Amino acid sequence: MQTNFSAAQLADPDVAESEKILRKCVHCGFCTATCPTYVTLGNELDSPRGRIYLIKDMLEDGRPADKQIVTHIDRCLSCLACMTTCPSGVNYMHLVDHARAHIQETYRRPLLDRLTRAMLAFVLPYPARFRAALKLAKLGKPFVGLFEKIPALKPLGAMLKLAPASIPTASPMASPAIHAGQGTKKGRVAILTGCAQSVLDPAINDTTISLLTRLGVEVVVPEGEGCCGALVHHMGREQAALASARRNVDAWTRAIDQGGLDAIIITASGCGTTIKDYGFMLRLDPAYAEKSARVSALAKDITEYLASLDLPEPVRKPGTVVAYHSACSMQHGQKITRQPKELLTKAGFVVREPREGHLCCGSAGTYNILQSEISAKLRDRKVRNIEATGAQIVATGNIGCITQIASAAKLPVVHTIKLLDWAYGGPKPEGIAEERLVAAE
Ligand code: SF4
Ligand code: SF4
Repeated sequence: MQTNFSAAQLADPDVAESEKILRKCVHCGFCTATCPTYVTLGNELDSPRGRIYLIKDMLEDGRPADKQIVTHIDRCLSCLACMTTCPSGVNYMHLVDHARAHIQETYRRPLLDRLTRAMLAFVLPYPARFRAALKLAKLGKPFVGLFEKIPALKPLGAMLKLAPASIPTASPMASPAIHAGQGTKKGRVAILTGCAQSVLDPAINDTTISLLTRLGVEVVVPEGEGCCGALVHHMGREQAALASARRNVDAWTRAIDQGGLDAIIITASGCGTTIKDYGFMLRLDPAYAEKSARVSALAKDITEYLASLDLPEPVRKPGTVVAYHSACSMQHGQKITRQPKELLTKAGFVVREPREGHLCCGSAGTYNILQSEISAKLRDRKVRNIEATGAQIVATGNIGCITQIASAAKLPVVHTIKLLDWAYGGPKPEGIAEERLVAAE
């Protein structure tokens, strides 16, 4: 694609980066076919190619964002299916991240939208605030129908709907500690405790620590780590995202200095995509460029790391039919497609892949709150495809997808690690009936 940026514009490293990305696009439109918003809405401006043109015009003109571009960029899920499809290697992720930061800097949203976004950025990345908000949400649940009828209050209605009926108690294993591996030491890793997942389902990380330590891996929960920054990053709040990235880079650098790390384990693939991008996000900061690149290189999804170990034979061979839902951040963001399915199969599960596996379930960070109508359409399409597999359980590796799919599916939805842990001798995953875990006749 031809671009027309001035030399002065290209002196801004973010514009220079976006220009490089834009020049790679050859307008072929292959990406439209796999874009969930284009498939759902049928509007070229809600396709990757359409958004690329809008972003190009906005950046070339050096003008503030307007309502049209904000509408179509807000509808983008950042699912990155377009990056998997693109034959020219267009880095849509960095382009849309730049566009979102530009929107945040130059566009004044309507008051309620501003308040909703400010509230999400204030609450979600902080476990104590999120826990308190979920308790409050219980009181608001009876008013969901009312909020849904008022367009400006729809995000509030969506939030209340997604809030779980019961909130698990906080896990002591999320506190800074070193969990020694059993037997011969096979490795030493840090684990991201994160934010929303540690409140919604602390058992995911507890289970991960339990399985890793049984396998002989020492697991460090470092002092000072927190939210990865993805939630605010996707809202264009660049400085807040970079502050989260720097804090985590510092925490993990201390852990590296105090005994070395083979990997930084991430159990929510949405966080993994962002942490693997820290090296890019902090490339212009001389104090962090090198450290953040090292952290990104060490970041591994739990299934990526387990696949690199020499695993023993599983204790159980369940034969349970599992529908594996590959989160967008797993398959498109991190290109992890093989390992989760191979691990489940090796552990004795029968893995089925739903049709249209490349399409997002509509969760996408805060998307199911801010764009609840498109999100619900994608969720229902996903659930139909999952249920058509005839599986007994759904497995996936991202808390956002678990919450989203579970809000409409009749099947139990669990994190992949819980099934693996059970097969390797851990306890039965909570909330799954015994008969679901044995092979169907
Ligand atoms: S990130 Fe997803 S929703 Fe956004 S343009 Fe690409 S395919 Fe479409
Ligand atoms: S597939 Fe790639 S090159 Fe083709 S239009 Fe989409 S982004 Fe551009």
